[in-house]
Amino acid sequence: MRQRELFGITPIQIAMSDYSKHIEILPNVHLVRGENAARFPEANTLLIDDEILTLVDAGSSLQNISSTLKDLNHEISDIQRIVLTHFHIDHKGYAADIQKIANCELICHSLAEIGVRTFQGLIELYGIEGHKYYTTWQSYISQRFGHVMGNYNVTSTFTDGKPISCGENDLIPIHLPGHTIDHTCFGINGYDTIFLTDIDLTNFGPWYGNKVSDIEDFKKSVERVIDLRPSMGISSHLIDPVLDDIDERLRKFRRVFDEREKRILDNISKGYDTIEKLSQKPTIYPRIPKDVYFVFEMFMLEKHIHILESNGKVVEESGHLMIEKR
Ligand SMILES: [Zn+2]
Repeated sequence: MRQRELFGITPIQIAMSDYSKHIEILPNVHLVRGENAARFPEANTLLIDDEILTLVDAGSSLQNISSTLKDLNHEISDIQRIVLTHFHIDHKGYAADIQKIANCELICHSLAEIGVRTFQGLIELYGIEGHKYYTTWQSYISQRFGHVMGNYNVTSTFTDGKPISCGENDLIPIHLPGHTIDHTCFGINGYDTIFLTDIDLTNFGPWYGNKVSDIEDFKKSVERVIDLRPSMGISSHLIDPVLDDIDERLRKFRRVFDEREKRILDNISKGYDTIEKLSQKPTIYPRIPKDVYFVFEMFMLEKHIHILESNGKVVEESGHLMIEKR
């Protein structure tokens, strides 16, 4: 019930666009919500209204960021620093556009600096160049997300565990890879409130569709958050912070890996015996909303198959996957 008491509204009452653009989640720490209920390609952003006016990520619409700043008697040009949780387009988002206006610092993790700096670097970390669906993906991005195709001026990198002071508030980087190699959550003034980023607690579950994504690392990262026992978890893709049953929500999110693995094994036994056939089912996405998503479905399937082969549950013979009968 705490969620209701804090924000005065339950998530079920909130329509897709009918919610306030920002809420203060801790003193001077504001959640700037993404459009469309913060679903990809939108994402939430944090605004720390402190001595150093700081954004964490820049993936909610510029309009939502601007109107939040305006409500707090600021404007885009006042932003002094942007801290990025990882290199993805829905997180680095409008950081380059903001830098052009505010000339602010841009700080990211060193492991994926290349993916923040340039679009080509991002493509390399995605690992999709030459893939069957690569040109479909590229034309989709250039039509819809021109703002992420330019260069970003990374001014420095942060260090895992070393607090970034905003004045009264500290952001503590917690490197939790798996979703991507650089994926970093941020404890706010400790570990009781954590910006969970893309350990996002959505019903979809974990996403690990890049070359630099790793299932085992992702599982360990979720377990690390469970061990930290936060009482508030802020997702990049849910408009309300999670206050109730976080432990169970994290465990449910973690179980999705096992559910997908089971589905893959079932599908192989039914004759979907190649990555291509499994992806047409589809197995990870409940449905494929656009052709560009096949590339990520296939990447995630490949990662599962690799694990299933290395632990002897699946074998490949003449290009066909088979369940290992022991
Ligand atoms: Zn991401």
